[in-house]
Amino acid sequence: MSDHDDIRPATRLVTGGRRAEWTAGVVNTPVWRASTILYDDVAHLRTTGARDTHHRLFYGRRGTPTQWSLADALTELEPGAEGTFLYPSGVAAVAACLLTLLSPGDEMLLVDSAYDPTRGLSDKLLARMGVTTRYYDPLIGAGIADLIGERTRVIFIESPGSLTFEVQDVPAIVAAAKARGVATVIDNTWATPLLFPVVERGVDYSILACTKYIGGHSDVMMGSVTAGPGRFAALRDTSFQLGQVVSADDAYLAARGLRTMGVRLERHEASAMRIAQWLATRPEVAQVLHPALPSCPGHDIWKRDFKGAAGLFSFVLAGGDDAARTALIDTLDHFGIGYSWGGFESLAIPVDPQRHRSVTDRAFAGPVVRLQIGLEDADDLIADLERGLAAWRAAQA
Ligand SMILES: *Cc1c(COP(=O)(O)O)cnc(C)c1O
Repeated sequence: MSDHDDIRPATRLVTGGRRAEWTAGVVNTPVWRASTILYDDVAHLRTTGARDTHHRLFYGRRGTPTQWSLADALTELEPGAEGTFLYPSGVAAVAACLLTLLSPGDEMLLVDSAYDPTRGLSDKLLARMGVTTRYYDPLIGAGIADLIGERTRVIFIESPGSLTFEVQDVPAIVAAAKARGVATVIDNTWATPLLFPVVERGVDYSILACTKYIGGHSDVMMGSVTAGPGRFAALRDTSFQLGQVVSADDAYLAARGLRTMGVRLERHEASAMRIAQWLATRPEVAQVLHPALPSCPGHDIWKRDFKGAAGLFSFVLAGGDDAARTALIDTLDHFGIGYSWGGFESLAIPVDPQRHRSVTDRAFAGPVVRLQIGLEDADDLIADLERGLAAWRAAQA
C-alpha cells in the first residue's frame, strides 16, 4: 500500500519510487545492472534465500532498485493498490495476469473491442490450455451479470476499446463481478491511472502497455500489472514462475518517461480534442470515435468516470474505398505510418475493426483511420489533415 495516499497524482509522478537507499543522493534511481548478487558468506546466502526477496537483492531475475523504483512509482499512481510487476511488453503483462487467474476448465468474459493480441492469446494459448473465452459487447454494462456462469473466473475490460473507442461501464461490471466472486482485469493503457484510477473503483488488476504513454518516446517496450488489495502475491508468484523480468536499462527509460507523463498527456489531450472537433465538422468525415465527443459510443460514461482524454482516437470516412483512405494517409507529412502510439510524435494507420470482432457488428459508413496525436503544433497537424482529406476527395473522382 502506498504511504502517499494524501498527495495528488501530478506530485506522485515526481516523487514516486525515489527512495534514498536506491538513489544514493542523485535524483533518478540509477541503472543497477545485475545478474549475480554476491553475499558476504554462506550464512548470508542462506538467510537471504530463505526470506521474502521483495525489494531485496537476491538474483538478477528478481530485479534491482531500478525496476523496483519504477514498479513502486506505478503502484503509487493507483490509490489503494498493493503492488506492481513489470513485463517486457504490454502483451507479456496481459499473459502473466491471465495465467495468474485462469486454470483448465475456467471461462473468461472478454470485451469484443479488446486489443487484438489479447484476443489472440485467449483464442490460441488459453484455449489450448482448456480455458474458454466468451466475447461480450463493450456497451453491455450491468447486463454482464447474465453472462456470468459457474465457470466464469475473469471479466476482462478494455475501456475505451481498441480501434473503436467504446467506453465501458466499469463500475457496473465490477459490481456484477463482485456479486459473483469473479476477478476483474482492465487494460487501462489509454487512460493511464492519471485519467482513470481503477483500483479504487474495485478493479482487481490494472494492466498498462508502458510502451505507450509511460515510456512516451517510442524507444522502449514494457508492460505492467498493478494489483489491488490482496492480489499481488499471486501475480508475483506466477510472474516469477514464468521468469519475467525487464532490463534495468529499459526500466530506467520508462521511469524517465513517467516523470513527464502528466504534462505530455495534457498536451496530447488538448491537441487531440481540437483535431477531433475539427474533423467532426468536415463533410469528408462520417463519425469521430473519440470518447470526449458525443458521436462516440459510451461518451456519457466517459464524462461520468474519466478525468480527461488521451491523444488516440479514430475517425470514419464518409464512404470511399481503401485506395481513397490510403491516398489520405500517404499524403500526410507530420503523421508517421506505424504501429504503437503514446510517443511524442503523431501517427496515422488504416484500421479494419470488423476483422477483430466476434459478437458486435457495427456498420461504419466508410473506412476507418486511427490517429495518435503527438506533441507537434496542432495547427500544423490540422493543415496536414486538410491536405489528406483533399487527397481522399480527389480519389473519389
Ligand atoms: C500496445 C497495446 C498493448 C500491448 O503493448 P505492447 O507493449 O505493444 O506489447 C496492449 N493493450 C493496448 C490497448 C495497446 O494499445
